[in-house]
Amino acid sequence: MNSCRIRIWPLIALLSLAWIGSNECALNYRLEGSVVPIFYNLTIGLRGDADNPGTQFDGEVFITLKAVLADVKEITLHKDISINIEECSLYDAADQLVESGLNARLTTEEQTQQLTVPLTQSLAVEANYTLYFKYTGKVQSDTVGLFSASYIDEATMKTKWVLLTQMQPINARLVFPCFDEPALKAKFEVHIGRPSGLSVVSNTELTRTTDEGNNRFTDHFKVTPIMSTYLLAFVVSEYQARGNSSLSILTRPAYYNYTEFSYSVAERVLPAFGELFQQSYQQLGNELLQYATTPRFPHNSMENWGLVIFKDKVVLEQPGVTDGWTQKEFTIRNIVHENAHMWFGNSVTCKWWSYIWLHEGFARYYEFFMGHELYPEYQLDQQFLVHKLHNALLRDSQNFTQPMTSPLGSILTPADIDYKFDKLTFDKAASVIRMWRIAMGEEHFNLAIQEFLQHYYLSSTSPTGLYVLLNDHWPVQESVLNQSYYDFTIQVGYPRIIVSLNLKDHMLSWEQQRFLLNASDGSDPTLRYTVPITYTTNLSPNFQNLTPAFYIKKSNDYNYWSDEPIDWVIVNLKQANYYRVFYNEPLLGRIQVALTKTEHSGIPVENRAAIIDDLFNFALAGLIDYVEVFEFMEYMSTETEYIPWYAAYVGMERIAKRLTPQQLPNFNKYLSDIAVTVLDKLGVGWTSGDKVLDVYNRNQQVAWLCKYQNSNCTNQVKELFEGGMEKPSPDYRETFYCAASRSGGYSRILEYYAKETNYIDREIYWRAASCTRDYRTHYQNEILGKGNSVDLKIAGLAQLYEQNPDLVTPIFQMITEDIAQLAEALESWPKTAQALSDLTDYFTTREQQQLFSNFYKESQTLFGSSAVTLSQALATVDSNVQWAEQRLGKLVSFLAQRNGAAGLTMPLMMMMWTLVGFLLKL
Ligand SMILES: [Zn+2]
Repeated sequence: MNSCRIRIWPLIALLSLAWIGSNECALNYRLEGSVVPIFYNLTIGLRGDADNPGTQFDGEVFITLKAVLADVKEITLHKDISINIEECSLYDAADQLVESGLNARLTTEEQTQQLTVPLTQSLAVEANYTLYFKYTGKVQSDTVGLFSASYIDEATMKTKWVLLTQMQPINARLVFPCFDEPALKAKFEVHIGRPSGLSVVSNTELTRTTDEGNNRFTDHFKVTPIMSTYLLAFVVSEYQARGNSSLSILTRPAYYNYTEFSYSVAERVLPAFGELFQQSYQQLGNELLQYATTPRFPHNSMENWGLVIFKDKVVLEQPGVTDGWTQKEFTIRNIVHENAHMWFGNSVTCKWWSYIWLHEGFARYYEFFMGHELYPEYQLDQQFLVHKLHNALLRDSQNFTQPMTSPLGSILTPADIDYKFDKLTFDKAASVIRMWRIAMGEEHFNLAIQEFLQHYYLSSTSPTGLYVLLNDHWPVQESVLNQSYYDFTIQVGYPRIIVSLNLKDHMLSWEQQRFLLNASDGSDPTLRYTVPITYTTNLSPNFQNLTPAFYIKKSNDYNYWSDEPIDWVIVNLKQANYYRVFYNEPLLGRIQVALTKTEHSGIPVENRAAIIDDLFNFALAGLIDYVEVFEFMEYMSTETEYIPWYAAYVGMERIAKRLTPQQLPNFNKYLSDIAVTVLDKLGVGWTSGDKVLDVYNRNQQVAWLCKYQNSNCTNQVKELFEGGMEKPSPDYRETFYCAASRSGGYSRILEYYAKETNYIDREIYWRAASCTRDYRTHYQNEILGKGNSVDLKIAGLAQLYEQNPDLVTPIFQMITEDIAQLAEALESWPKTAQALSDLTDYFTTREQQQLFSNFYKESQTLFGSSAVTLSQALATVDSNVQWAEQRLGKLVSFLAQRNGAAGLTMPLMMMMWTLVGFLLKL
């Protein structure tokens, strides 16, 4: 991409640059590397007291550095505009003053945040100097650099504050002048001055505390390992720690009891990585690992070396409230991810942000696969596919995608760097790393990774560094890795492999095309890839051997002749590789039949989910009709596993949302038919012996089936709810109560809401109560009434129509009868406009569009400037309805015919197939 994006430039900057021929590319965001830092001795003096974090701080930093080139007469580093330098001088290795009063001569470049220190003489090459700055800085209002967060202390009901940091990717320069690039690593010695009553943690152990008088103290920390500026961190708080001097979790005292589970995960993860990588955490150079939690943070978590920071909700398990499987899985994944960074990122660092996948791809990969090793009950190896691989495939088939490795020169500005942190980079890289691991075999892969971590220990590298070691360990002589590595890391996108069976079922053929969701979106359709092929047929099915049978090279197609006729083939076993598979007829139909046989003919869940996800994407791209997808999914009347169902619901979501209220009953019938076995197996109740994925699966089944009025689902929930059951587990609480609220449980759940004091459960009850089909009562009493917050009202209104899609028209009519009432309840016309816009996103007919259009004409003036939200929503309704008219026509007829008097329905056919399979087995 073009890194010199004019749109982010302030007008002033543009005008001032006009004289250089508007060549904004002349700005250099990168440091030249003629001077490198070795050591930072940093002191931050906070100005706040126990009641107030303050808005400014005092800073002092001694940076030991050296010139690596001759004739260096200036030193350039980074500094944000919020840092105000008061003193600057330069000392030599013997601590003799070389130059003082430099602050008068400093120049700063605002756009690139570069600070230049001009010198009167050149620096001696390879000789150490110390550059000294005394300065003041700002406690940021945003969550960057040094910033504050606050909470109400449960014991005293007083507001407490926390000061904490977030330096990644380029925010260290907001806290101190520094060489703020990942490869410019140095050691750090940190000293933090603070008021009494608070304590400070930083990357390393606290060595001593000095009394500065006036109730102020300075905490001094051990020197860090050599590391990048973005990993520096400290937290100032009144937190309480669980753990010991080498591993601890810090959180506010009231949350202390909620960190037990996280701590147990932390205790297991570090040694497991140490063993896998043959390099312990301590060998990286830091004895200490602490986790701190915060109510305010820009990400879920951040891997600062020795001091990982998490958002509160990520690592806190409140008994009975947030200690379900879903939350525990989230905790495990985040902890494993951040711990993986201690090796990938902290020890071995990417040379530049263009290669950030070397950190994030591996952290994501281990998040799932080390997570799976340690906690196999979550089946994270399978979940990876539907949560990450499918997401990467979806995004990587559109023009906005980006390659894993971007050219160095294309990632320069803060916006460019931000762009590389796209989730696509994380998910694609993890998927491609998994592909390499499977192709080369686990043992070879682990050896290559151990060597990689050893070779670049405490240093930095590029994707080539990884390639060399993977290639060294590639098990076959003629490695195709060279080409394949290029195809999947430097090129964008991936292929769909078209598989067909010809010459009366004896010849299998493979060919490739780049898969694009929209072939005319400007993407290059001619890209080709070096693709590992694994496959098995009905003749001797083997789904365990994932070693590629062969590679499809860029310009070749492949054929295979079988002496015996083939019935079906499955390609890309366990979706180990990064591509989609397109089965030409009659293969798809035969695979469907195979799936209905005993144990799905051995075809694993990963492939079942992959086929469903691929089919939905082929339909979205217009390569097939949705009818083919829905016909194929008839096999699911024999499917009871979470993973394929998850893929099916992701695909159906887009379709279900665009069906009209008149079309919904046929969809409901279809869904009820294909889900009959799974609902029968799981039921709507829960047992202590439930497997994790069964818990997840029941949750998604009940959420969908009850929402679309499956009577089996609603009746069972009603019976269980009215029979007086225990409180459902946190995983299932909202889904179950939402379903119960639709089936007569509304008033009781509203009572639970009114009585509940725990705010998390209170919100669950509120959202669940808002699933009621008695929308008029809920709207009049609870949303227009006075008792609830505006945020809850907005969430409750959205639940009414999202959870009852057939009621969207009457709900719209009810609201628009007197829109001023809603505006009063939400205390804002812009919020009212947004609420209407959200609702009309569920519109599916021209009649609804007309209603909305009439309302807009009559009432737009009430909305003032936010009327534009409504006009945009009107345009969205038009394009949504148009999409459905163009793309769903055949599907709608199919669903109608299927449920009509046409006789032999698919479920009946399924039963016949099952019977045939049963007889054959006999
Ligand atoms: Zn990460």
